[in-house]
Amino acid sequence: MYNFNYQAASSVDDAVSKYAAADDARFLAGGMTLVPVLKQRLDQPSDVVDLGALADLRGISEDGGAIVIGAMTPHHDVATSDLVKSKIPALAELAGTIGDPMVRNRGTIGGSLANNDPAASYPAAVLGLGATIKTNKREIAADDYFTGMFDTALEEGELITAVSFPIPEQAGYRHFPNPASRFPIVGAFVAKTADGVRVGITGAAPCAYRQTNFEAALSGGLDPEKLKGIEVSSDGLNSDIHASAEYRAHLIGVMARRAIGG
Ligand SMILES: Cc1cc2nc3c(=O)[nH]c(=O)nc-3n(C[C@H](O)[C@H](O)[C@H](O)COP(=O)(O)OP(=O)(O)OC[C@H]3O[C@@H](n4cnc5c(N)ncnc54)[C@H](O)[C@@H]3O)c2cc1C
Repeated sequence: MYNFNYQAASSVDDAVSKYAAADDARFLAGGMTLVPVLKQRLDQPSDVVDLGALADLRGISEDGGAIVIGAMTPHHDVATSDLVKSKIPALAELAGTIGDPMVRNRGTIGGSLANNDPAASYPAAVLGLGATIKTNKREIAADDYFTGMFDTALEEGELITAVSFPIPEQAGYRHFPNPASRFPIVGAFVAKTADGVRVGITGAAPCAYRQTNFEAALSGGLDPEKLKGIEVSSDGLNSDIHASAEYRAHLIGVMARRAIGG
């Protein structure tokens, strides 16, 4: 690990101004991704701005038909929240599948979405539910947020403060886990929302995306039979030692059907 300046932020404004004043800063949330990256010398920031003391970024509430989750809320809190379990059980279930107990107790929803690992779990739910990413500057719709592998619509120094998930009429999530890391090889979040059916896919491609041919097939209702026989192209899907692109294409259909009881 290279030397860097450690700075503890006392508020969102303080975090953003400390970041802006530094040569080349990174925010630190749960550190489940950033710390290994620093230890492996894959990144060399001049400053690390710790968000750990920002209690107002941690918590879960209901607001106008949506569940709002603070950026510093760890996965464990989402998985065990009675509010999430009662309003969007599929989201609690998803959070409970992330990594292992240490990752779930340290890792945060804001860190996960800022990092945008192609196999991260939350992006499937953010797209599947049509969530809104709230930052210190603006609100970003799910469909505009994920821009590429480890890439998002966030600008330099922009801080995620919360994520707002509209409460769906019905939703389900299933993923096929990598047996070592537990990251999804493919994950599918299917939801019937006020705006229609949405299907968010993670793990399959360089960046999470919506499976629009499944959404059209399910527009009459979340019947897994409607997905049978629909071809999923392997073009552009990830291929690695864990799964070929063709296998991932197959898993997309299987996980989407299982998400809705098939
Ligand atoms: C063994 C292991 C297994 C895992 N399995 C899974 C899995 O199954 N599914 C899954 O989804 N994830 C998995 N993860 C990743 C985990 O979910 C982490 O929580 C996530 O990658 C990063 O969250 P963090 O809070 O630790 O962020 P950090 O590591 O602190 O930060 C990650 C990045 O986000 C930036 N950042 C952090 N917070 C903010 C913010 N509020 N605004 C803007 N930028 C910010 C940081 O600057 C950094 O670039 C796994 C990790 C490990 C180590």
